[in-house]
Amino acid sequence: MTQLQYKLHIDSIIERVEKARLSVSAHHIVKIVAVSKYSTSDEIKALYEIGQRAFGENKVQDLEKKAEELDALPLEWHFIGNLQKNKINHLIKANPFLFHSLDSLELALELDKRLESNGVTMDALLQINSAYEESKSGVLPENATDTYNEIRSTCKHINLKGVMSIGAHSEYREIIQKSFETTHKIYTELEGATICSMGMSGDFELAIKCGSNMVRLGSLMFNK
Ligand SMILES: *Cc1c(COP(=O)(O)O)cnc(C)c1O
Repeated sequence: MTQLQYKLHIDSIIERVEKARLSVSAHHIVKIVAVSKYSTSDEIKALYEIGQRAFGENKVQDLEKKAEELDALPLEWHFIGNLQKNKINHLIKANPFLFHSLDSLELALELDKRLESNGVTMDALLQINSAYEESKSGVLPENATDTYNEIRSTCKHINLKGVMSIGAHSEYREIIQKSFETTHKIYTELEGATICSMGMSGDFELAIKCGSNMVRLGSLMFNK
């Protein structure tokens, strides 16, 4: 793909996001996080040059490496992967713009402790396992509100901004839709939540129609 073709490809993604968000409301703004986990720093740079600023990684060591390699660019880094306890200090050091995948009270308490000793704070989303899938992390829908409020009241160094979820792994649109609706309903009932992160390359339009205002697009944005 030439750079012009790549630009047109990105334009077509933006048009699809536009169409989906306008079907919700003219005021429904959606942010695209380009998930760069399968991409090199050079590929990230090429997308940056087209205008993309927000990038997401799912491994702390990749985030550290790419953020350092691309240090000269004004990028906004998102962390979207499972955080192992032994990587907490590395994540704090990497200082992501937003941590999407805070998935338990236990992890929040540990993260809060380390944030406190570093004298810093971190913006985060509570990950919800809306489709009740064994393979996925996150709190179950019936526990989400309580866990969210508990983290908000006990973890003073974590600023919870909303929720994140991965759509149901299913070939049936109705099942995926139901998982997004479950997440969005919880989101609307939370106090002070402004970010509902859901939707990936295969299901982002549906996610937006269900109320997502942040989509995480990997393979599509990087044309993989
Ligand atoms: C990989 C990943 C994405 C992007 O997936 P694509 O299908 O490539 O768009 C989004 N969110 C999370 C949590 C991921 O791990």
